[in-house]
Amino acid sequence: MSAKKVVKVDDIKNDAEGIKCQVEKSLYLVNEFLSGLMCGKCFPCSMGSYEARIRLRSLMEGNGSSDDIQQIQRIADEMLISSMCKKGKDVAKYMLEWLDTEVFSSHAAGSCPAQTCKALISYRIEIDKCTMCGDCLKACKYAAIHGEKIQPFKSGYHPFEIKQLKCVKCGDCIKVCKPEAIILVDANVGEPVEV
Ligand code: SF4
Ligand code: SF4
Ligand code: SF4
Repeated sequence: MSAKKVVKVDDIKNDAEGIKCQVEKSLYLVNEFLSGLMCGKCFPCSMGSYEARIRLRSLMEGNGSSDDIQQIQRIADEMLISSMCKKGKDVAKYMLEWLDTEVFSSHAAGSCPAQTCKALISYRIEIDKCTMCGDCLKACKYAAIHGEKIQPFKSGYHPFEIKQLKCVKCGDCIKVCKPEAIILVDANVGEPVEV
């Protein structure tokens, strides 16, 4: 059996700084903290961090609510006060630092402002901008794009579209679409994601 690693919370925090979404950042912090040794000496840290992980995951997966945000806040407040060591206090401190109410509320409403939580975004093709070049079709490794490349003297095309059930949201198609006809929309409401 492999031994659990000794975790330095400041190192995790530094690694997490490159993550754009505050919710994902917080989940990374808690996940990494829990992947290390957990002494379990104080209740708010040992139980609270597990509960925070579940609630952060719910928000990222589009199943979260304002209650999750309040409970994450409560957990972090309690951990900050009651943790007996610096590790627990640091996790709480960074969770509170990243608990941007607006961003967390957006997740509870089904939207990720950083456009990185895959469960909350969809890729769509804007037909009026699509030049039917077929580049996206070639780029998609998951056969999620259907459509016919334009040919001279032919009519009655099958327009390009993304089959949502096959799309893994890798973003490869957006990178190759020169006319910027592929956009990100909120998965739940179908509206373009605001940057
Ligand atoms: S705060 Fe420190 S001492 Fe308390 S459970 Fe967490 S890691 Fe252990
Ligand atoms: S790459 Fe863009 S323009 Fe070309 S077919 Fe795909 S969506 Fe249309
Ligand atoms: S995001 Fe990835 S899987 Fe989805 S349609 Fe584009 S290339 Fe295919």
